[in-house]
Amino acid sequence: MFKSVLIANRGEIACRIMHTAKRLGMRTIAVYSVADADALHVLEADEAHLLGPAPANESYLRADKILEIAQYAHADCIHPGYGFLSENAEFAEACEDAGIVFVGPTAAAIRAMGLKDAAKKLMVGAGVPVVPGYHGADQDPKALAKEAAKIGYPVLIKAVAGGGGKGMRRVDDAKDFEAALNGAIREGEKAFGNGHVLIEKYIEKPRHIEIQVFADSHGNVVHLFERDCSLQRRHQKVVEEAPAPGMPDALRDVMGKAAVDAAKAIDYRGAGTIEFIVDASKALTADGFFFMEMNTRLQVEHPVTEEITGQDLVAWQFAVAAGEELPLSQVHLEIEGHAVEVRLYAENPSRKFLPSTGTLHHLKFPEEDGFIRIETGVTEGDTVSVYYDPMLAKVIAWDATREKAIDRLVTALRELEVAGVKTNASFLAEAVDHTAFRAGDIDTGFIENHLSDLVPAETGPGAVEKALAVIGLLCLRQGVTELAAAETLEPESPWAALDGFRIGGIAHERMTFTGDHGFEARIRYDDGDVILGIDGEEFDVEGELDEDGLTVAIDGEHHTAGVHFMADRLVLMHQARTYELSFADPLAPELAAEVGGAGLAAPMPGKIISVLAKAGDRVKRGQAIVVLEAMKMEHTLAAPADITIETIGAGPGDQVAEGMMIVTFAGN
Ligand code: ADP
Ligand code: ADP
Ligand code: MG
Repeated sequence: MFKSVLIANRGEIACRIMHTAKRLGMRTIAVYSVADADALHVLEADEAHLLGPAPANESYLRADKILEIAQYAHADCIHPGYGFLSENAEFAEACEDAGIVFVGPTAAAIRAMGLKDAAKKLMVGAGVPVVPGYHGADQDPKALAKEAAKIGYPVLIKAVAGGGGKGMRRVDDAKDFEAALNGAIREGEKAFGNGHVLIEKYIEKPRHIEIQVFADSHGNVVHLFERDCSLQRRHQKVVEEAPAPGMPDALRDVMGKAAVDAAKAIDYRGAGTIEFIVDASKALTADGFFFMEMNTRLQVEHPVTEEITGQDLVAWQFAVAAGEELPLSQVHLEIEGHAVEVRLYAENPSRKFLPSTGTLHHLKFPEEDGFIRIETGVTEGDTVSVYYDPMLAKVIAWDATREKAIDRLVTALRELEVAGVKTNASFLAEAVDHTAFRAGDIDTGFIENHLSDLVPAETGPGAVEKALAVIGLLCLRQGVTELAAAETLEPESPWAALDGFRIGGIAHERMTFTGDHGFEARIRYDDGDVILGIDGEEFDVEGELDEDGLTVAIDGEHHTAGVHFMADRLVLMHQARTYELSFADPLAPELAAEVGGAGLAAPMPGKIISVLAKAGDRVKRGQAIVVLEAMKMEHTLAAPADITIETIGAGPGDQVAEGMMIVTFAGN
């Protein structure tokens, strides 16, 4: 086995590979871009080397630099992960030339499967069924239009070099063919430097079922069963599971054999995935599946296969790359239970799934307990930037049955807490909890067809969330007050319980939240009880705030939530949903000081537009002090209380980094 490995990737997959490498006793060598200097994969590695600036083509795609580092660091092998250089034949070749093992297939195998048209021709030759269509060399638009008519609409135009769902256009009618063709060509040229296309019959109700294959250099080839990846958005996988719901054993055997044949046809070595499309409008039968493409690498969704087979696919990859035989033969591979994976993205489902960038102010994953597995590359405080894929984590659930695995996944997703960026957590929970998904009634149109069930309307907080926000603030204030009373020099965290505490003999108070979902709460302290008045209703509440979050009883009903405080707002995370609430009344100066520090910091990187006050000014609570432009929007930094400004550390036109203290206040 190898003594060391360089991992030419970032994020969750770099961490995933590292875990196995460490278990196998290897020295782990990470590479990183400037943007990833403090990333988890850098921190976890035995050593880490800087590649260059943030953009991938100046860092993670710099094959030359990666090889240079591998040689300098004496890496025995390079694991490329997925994406980036994983399917780059020149890179695989350059590694071998440099005497460093590429943990993956041969350059020839990558090339054979790299272009969809050539791959399809190869498969036809190997007797593997392919989607009816045109895979020829003639790229004349008129000839292609004729082929499309011959295949019969609807058709799918695919860039032969495409991947990740890019370069594809569905066409339903001959009159739209030319425009769609031009679109696919443009995208192919732009994203992959190749404008060639192929045309396929569009399968109306398709399921995406793929087979994991593995081959060694001793002629052994096995498959590790199927994964169903039918839940997709814009041809990109969102939910994956193994085994495929409703898969007959006979079809599994036939598809498995076809996949093994496909791997043998190109003398494959290592981990690969043969993607098939299956017509879901009919029952799954042995003549209803077609080869789509082969991915010559480890797949994003490999964990579901690991969960049902009990195997470590990365360990298998290392074994094969080291020249060993496959750890198991076909007869020893078995399916046990069911696994479902979801991809947690920093994106906003309510805004057309726009990627959401920012700082992960708060991040809490559900506990891993043998049934729930988390694969991630981020930690609290990390920044989600525009440079890389916004996937935050994969959450994988396993159990004896599909139903139980889904139950576990839904629960886990509802426990997840993220503040600072928007995520698709609640969308994912709704998707896997949907009756149609639970019934196994899935095809690649599932998300589109059920979108209104899955994407919550951007409604504000309900009475429970409002009560949680108020209780959170009350607990925080009480903790701060207790600390002040104790005059602790080394303050511990200001966590506290709300147990009918009355501040300075107040019997009533009001708390005002502003913004889109603003509301007012009345708080009454009554003989040891705390009564909240919200939206015309009264609730008897108790609560406790600690590192694990907020635990409350509202009229005796138990709730838990995550809460993250900022100077003038809080983020409440409840049942996979996130609510940002601004509070107009910073309650007490101690609180403002405690949560906001002694000044105002830039909430995100940006440029100062104007400064509306000066050092020494006495400002009123809410008064604007500095206006910042960031992400094409203006943000106003306002006084958290009636307070005196001590310094203003930036002027108009200045660029400021996120978290940079711009305004400080005189001792308040
Ligand atoms: P897979 O087929 O392994 O599930 P997808 O088809 O969803 O992967 O994604 C296609 C490609 O998009 C991957 O091969 C990879 O190149 C890229 N990709 C997806 N997610 C990421 C990520 N988190 N980081 C880098 N690249 C990614
Ligand atoms: P990529 O390289 O981008 O992953 P694929 O050829 O694997 O491209 O196709 C991606 C997805 O597009 C599939 O998972 C499937 O949902 C859909 N798709 C591909 N081919 C067809 C087809 N002939 N008919 C209907 N949907 C298809
Ligand atoms: Mg694909």
